[in-house]
Amino acid sequence: MTRVGWVVLALILLAAGIFASLLRVGGTAPAPAPRPAPPPGLIVPVAGVDRAQLTDTWGQARSEGREHHGTDIVAPSRTPVLAAAAGTVEKLFESGRGGTALYERSPDRRWTFYYAHLAGYAPGLREGEPVRAGQLLGYVGDTGDAGAGNFHLHFGLTRTTPDQHWYQGDDVNAFPFLRTGQALP
Ligand SMILES: [Zn+2]
Repeated sequence: MTRVGWVVLALILLAAGIFASLLRVGGTAPAPAPRPAPPPGLIVPVAGVDRAQLTDTWGQARSEGREHHGTDIVAPSRTPVLAAAAGTVEKLFESGRGGTALYERSPDRRWTFYYAHLAGYAPGLREGEPVRAGQLLGYVGDTGDAGAGNFHLHFGLTRTTPDQHWYQGDDVNAFPFLRTGQALP
């Protein structure tokens, strides 16, 4: 073989060696860390609020002899409101009491999560859309009967049967679940 021939052969072997080492590195690269599993129970549906900060506002007296069925979570205007658990956006709803509100249904349709007094919804959010626990749903506001400047999320939890509609079911106090993170029954 000529000298040029030996040089060409050496370059080919060098290139093959580099290629083989790249394959080896690729084959032993660590797998990306799996996404941590969501907690079994509810997460606090307002960004930056700890479980320990919550207070139980269930059963407080409201106008016209009504009792408060929900957990009020006070936060600055436009704080992100997050899905308390995985589910599906079932209804975007405006009313005099709840203001700008959202009903989310659990995947097994046995729970409804209600978020009220919102300043607005997350951009592009639609009815029928699946959401992850912790996904942005909207922003804390003072719409409906919250009272001007009384910025808070009203979070409601309702036990339903799968065939019931978003406005049906039996209200349940969410506070123990929000406080502890224990799984819903
Ligand atoms: Zn409330």
